[in-house]
Formats: sequence, C-alpha cells, structure tokens
Amino acid sequence: MVRQSEFYDITIVGAGPVGLYATYYAGLRDCRTKLLEMYPQVGGRLISMYPEKEIFDVAGHPKILAADLVRLLTEQAMQYRPTVLLDERVTGLRILGERVIELATPNGNHYTQTAILTAGCGAFVPRRLDIPHLIDLEGHGIYYYLKSFEPLRGRKVLIVGGGNSAVDWALSLLGIAAEVTLAHRMYRFQAHEAMVDRLLNSDVRVKFPYFTLKSVLGEDRVTGAVIWNERSGKEEEIAVDAIVLSIGMLTNLEPFRQWGLNIVGSGIAVAPDMSTNLPGVYAAGDIVTYPGKVLLITAGSGEAATAVNTAKEYIVAGELGR
Ligand SMILES: Cc1cc2nc3c(=O)[nH]c(=O)nc-3n(C[C@H](O)[C@H](O)[C@H](O)COP(=O)(O)OP(=O)(O)OC[C@H]3O[C@@H](n4cnc5c(N)ncnc54)[C@H](O)[C@@H]3O)c2cc1C
Repeated sequence: MVRQSEFYDITIVGAGPVGLYATYYAGLRDCRTKLLEMYPQVGGRLISMYPEKEIFDVAGHPKILAADLVRLLTEQAMQYRPTVLLDERVTGLRILGERVIELATPNGNHYTQTAILTAGCGAFVPRRLDIPHLIDLEGHGIYYYLKSFEPLRGRKVLIVGGGNSAVDWALSLLGIAAEVTLAHRMYRFQAHEAMVDRLLNSDVRVKFPYFTLKSVLGEDRVTGAVIWNERSGKEEEIAVDAIVLSIGMLTNLEPFRQWGLNIVGSGIAVAPDMSTNLPGVYAAGDIVTYPGKVLLITAGSGEAATAVNTAKEYIVAGELGR
C-alpha cells in the first residue's frame, strides 16, 4: 500500500535540459512532480560534457553558455517546488496497475501515476577509433569532450569529426589554443550550415574531405598525429598536444528494453503525443525517436511540454473515471 504522500502525478527520470523543462511544465500544469537524476548534479550533458561551450540555437538566447542555460532552466524548474532527488539512478520500471507505476532505484522505490523518461541516451560511452596506443593516451592528450578549455590553453589541438560538436569545439578553441586543426572524413559536414561557414572562414586549419586520423604519436602523452586522406592515400604528420575525438556516442538503451519499452534504432519509439508503448509512460528529448527527430535542446523542450500535457490528460481522465 503506497501512502498518498509518496504518490506523485508525474515522475521525471533524468534532469538534463529536457527533464528540467518537463519539471517546470508539470508544475505549471499543477501536477505533483518528482524529478530523479542519477548524477549528483542536474544539467545532463550540458554540465557533464560542455559547461563552458556557447550554445547558439536555443530559442530566445542568441548566445548562452551551457552552464548558464542550466542555471536558468533549474531556476525555472524549481518554481513549483518539485521533489528533486539526486544520486538516484532508476534501474527498473513496472506497471503495477491502472495509473500506478513503480520506479526502482538502489535507494528504494518511487510510485507515480505517470512517468516521463528524459534520460538522454541512457548510459553513454564515447565512440572510439580502433587505433593502436589510443586508449593508453586517454587522459594524456586524448579527449572525447571538453569539460574545460583551460587545459588546452596555448596548446596545438586536432579535432576529429564534422558534426555540430566538432565544429563547435573547433570554433570555441580559437583564441584559447595556439593552433586548431579539424580533420573530417566525409564529403560534407553534418553541422549547421552557418557554423560550417564560420569554420571555413576562421583560422581553424580544416583538413577536409576524406581526412581521418591514422595514428597517434607520443609515448607518455600526445605529441603528434598522422592524418590521412582516405581517397588519395596521402598522409600528413602534424605536431599536436591534444586530440579531441568528436565522432559520436554509443548509447545503451538495453535497460529500457528490459522494462518493456519499444526501442527502435537508438531511441524509445514514441507517438506524436510522446506516449510510449507502456500505459502512463511518456518520453522526451534525446532518448526518443520518431520520423524527423532532431537531437537538440529546443526540440526536446517542445517534446517535454507535449509529454506533460498528454500525461495530464491521462491523469484527469483517471480522476473522471474515463
Ligand atoms: C558536445 C556536444 C555539444 C552539443 N551542443 C549543442 C548545442 O549547441 N545546441 C543544442 O541544442 N544541442 C547541443 N547538443 C545536444 C544536446 O546536448 C542534447 O540534445 C541534450 O543534452 C538532450 O537533453 P536530454 O535532457 O534529453 O538528455 P541529457 O542532456 O543527456 O540528460 C539526460 C539526463 O538523464 C540522466 N539519466 C540517464 N539515465 C538515468 C537513469 N536511469 N536514472 C536517472 N537519471 C538518468 C543523465 O544523468 C542526464 O543527466 C550537444 C551535444 C554534445 C554532446
């Protein structure tokens, strides 16, 4: 028997930007709201991967530091006094009955009418390249993301990749690093066009197309890299102190599959109203997939509002006995 005081209308799993916005919106819709986050801090990848990076594509903010955006989202989310539990990793989800969901964590169980999953890409690990010696130099000049730019001040840096993150890292390091080179193996960039334009007109040395990392030089720490053109076979040795491999993340959604959720590709399949295949369970943000899904904060915020509205309708329908 669950005490009424422990029973929530909406429990949100994951306090990244999307979970924080869902928390605010659930309060706005007068829902008893709980937010569970597995890390000791909120903010998701904005804090764990790029707190010092500027973000240019959030509505209403021409430019904002990731850490500042999280501060504002947190202030907004806390307005309606949700219950927030940090260091609380959700490890299980069970539908116990109509409008009764149990979320398990190592610290105990949580009970809720509805759940909104905003867990990003679940437990993620950076995608690595199969290059000898690369793993040995992790922490000694090999990076997968940059929590702080300071260690790269005055250094020569090679960025590998051509998506939004790679282009953003390269531009962010201008004026901090002594020299920035970006190598990209595709025939076109996957980043936003305006940012690519900025990159191509900047002081970043762009090695593109068909350039990728062939080997890493250095015994105890990175001293150089060999990049090569996959088409021409031409190799080039460059002196660098650091290499940032920005070639994506491997996601692990297996736990969500075990909870009974329908996983398609690398996301939880949702309907246009953000409902999943489980009753009372909704999802939003980077964890979801549907035709046309984009992995952006703004897109996730819209999905969060939709998920809360759908959850609220489901709760009200229960109260009216429908
Ligand atoms: C380097 C980089 C740069 C980027 N730059 C931009 C940009 O400029 N603009 C932009 O719009 N987007 C950018 N993105 C994408 C953006 O970060 C994501 O779209 C956004 O973080 C998605 O938010 P989210 O809340 O869905 O997921 P996340 O930010 O991943 O947050 C998910 C949260 O859920 C928690 N969690 C996971 N599993 C559990 C669990 N079982 N129990 C409890 N908590 C859990 C995690 O700890 C995390 O805090 C960038 C991404 C990267 C990697």
